[in-house]
Amino acid sequence: MLQNHFVNISKKTNKMTCDVCGETTYWRCDICCKPVCVTDGARKWNGATCAIAFHNPSFWGLAMSDVHLHKMTALDWTPPTKQMIKRNEDKVAALKMEMMNLGSI
Ligand SMILES: [Zn+2]
Ligand SMILES: [Zn+2]
Repeated sequence: MLQNHFVNISKKTNKMTCDVCGETTYWRCDICCKPVCVTDGARKWNGATCAIAFHNPSFWGLAMSDVHLHKMTALDWTPPTKQMIKRNEDKVAALKMEMMNLGSI
């Protein structure tokens, strides 16, 4: 499934703000319609760290475009730290358990 997103990340001609690190990027996942970096700056491949982080379930709710979930605006948003991602991972795991339980009713 993730693979599907990766092949749909393409370079755009206009500048966008990465949903993960807040840096300028030209890359966007066309499935999520969200800008995510796969390069450092203009062209150096960085292993797609932002694209991988963005599509990781532990990142749910932390992207810049998710600020409304926290009653914040994009201006208040800062790139999540490793600690925040870790904490979020636990939350997402709990949420998943809940969803699984609902599904079994
Ligand atoms: Zn980025
Ligand atoms: Zn995607």
